[in-house]
Amino acid sequence: SSEERAAQAAAAQADDDAPTIFDKIIAKQIKSDIIYEDDQCLALRDIQPQARARARMAAPVHFLVIPKHRDGLTRLSRAEERHKALLGHLLFVAQLVAKQEGLQPGFRVVINDGPQGCQSVYHLHLHIMGGRQLSWPPG
Ligand code: C5P
Repeated sequence: SSEERAAQAAAAQADDDAPTIFDKIIAKQIKSDIIYEDDQCLALRDIQPQARARARMAAPVHFLVIPKHRDGLTRLSRAEERHKALLGHLLFVAQLVAKQEGLQPGFRVVINDGPQGCQSVYHLHLHIMGGRQLSWPPG
């Protein structure tokens, strides 16, 4: 439920430089469904556990765009001047892979920031969701 997700986010590790599960995905130490990769980032399908498939936010297409080098970007609000080119690249790749995934009718890009934004993994990532008519606003 959304309450469970909020609790999970609140319980997530502190916003420090501790490694996250995404480091293992980037290093290909754990299996993931990577649908795009370049020198700066990769896109992978969100694992979407069953519990979330029933949630209001579930979408037929849901992938993440993740920078390969976190470089201090545990969360968007840690952005500094030096990150501007990377942030632009991630957004560009989001729309590129959205097209690759057949999302020409439209899609949504989300970045959860911090506990109140329900962020659970402290390695910056964009969520791209689509494949059905979405509603607005999100919860
Ligand atoms: O924005 P937030 O930090 O909550 O998003 C993290 C996302 O990473 C979740 O949607 C979760 O399903 C996804 N995830 C994943 N593969 C993992 C761990 C988390 O796709 N191994």
